[in-house]
Amino acid sequence: MGKPGAGKGTQATRLLDYYQLKHISTGNVYRDEISKRSLIGIEAEKYIKKGELVPDDLTNDIVREILCRKDYPNGFMLDGYPRTETQAIALNQMLASLGLALTACINVDVSDDILLNRMAGRRVCSTCNATYHIHFHPSVIPGVCDVCGSALIQRADDLEESVLNRLRIYNNKTRPLLNFYQKQGLLQVVDGTRATDEVFADITKRLGEPNHGNDQIEPRN
Ligand code: ADP
Ligand code: ADP
Ligand code: ZN
Repeated sequence: MGKPGAGKGTQATRLLDYYQLKHISTGNVYRDEISKRSLIGIEAEKYIKKGELVPDDLTNDIVREILCRKDYPNGFMLDGYPRTETQAIALNQMLASLGLALTACINVDVSDDILLNRMAGRRVCSTCNATYHIHFHPSVIPGVCDVCGSALIQRADDLEESVLNRLRIYNNKTRPLLNFYQKQGLLQVVDGTRATDEVFADITKRLGEPNHGNDQIEPRN
């Protein structure tokens, strides 16, 4: 969890690799659907452009469908979901019906002035969703994705008016979830103002060593 621009996606990308988790990013699902011009994409775009949340029912249906695939032998990381109490309650029901439970809820904590700076400089790959920053994480060739070579773009919802709206919505609808997860004993608050590597080290220290290699046979020499 974290405000828009806190570094959720950046940390998620590294954690997925480290723990071999499936990435479930509702923001990425919506951006992919928008670029395909699917019915879901066309519906979601109306809200996303303005910095508003896509309705809970649609978002919950998408996550339910992904979780029901059960294609995550080492677990999954939800990034940008849940964002409302209705979503958090729906998620608990989905997990209960699948016999699953959350390990932790990580809140990447960053003050608003830092966020505005991060979002103004954020650039994303138009194809693979990789995220860069013009000052903090520049691509090797300006405007070109290091991973896949596609063009980098600025998200339409990263323009200032939409950013301020998203922060307001975060405060009203998403921030109360911190209490929801605190009560369940799952909340871990991480200082997200530090460099990416330090934030990553802090999260992995709290979550512990990856255990996906445990059942592998040691190579013989
Ligand atoms: P950020 O990384 O800036 O926090 P995301 O990429 O997670 O933003 O999401 C981008 C937009 O997609 C959100 O502003 C919202 O409009 C929509 N969206 C993403 N996840 C959700 C969700 N769980 N519920 C409702 N809308 C969502
Ligand atoms: P979120 O998914 O929470 O919206 P992102 O991971 O997309 O946030 O990060 C927002 C912007 O800030 C991106 O341009 C990213 O490269 C940059 N960024 C992320 N983490 C850090 C950090 N620890 N220090 C400086 N810049 C960062
Ligand atoms: Zn790319």
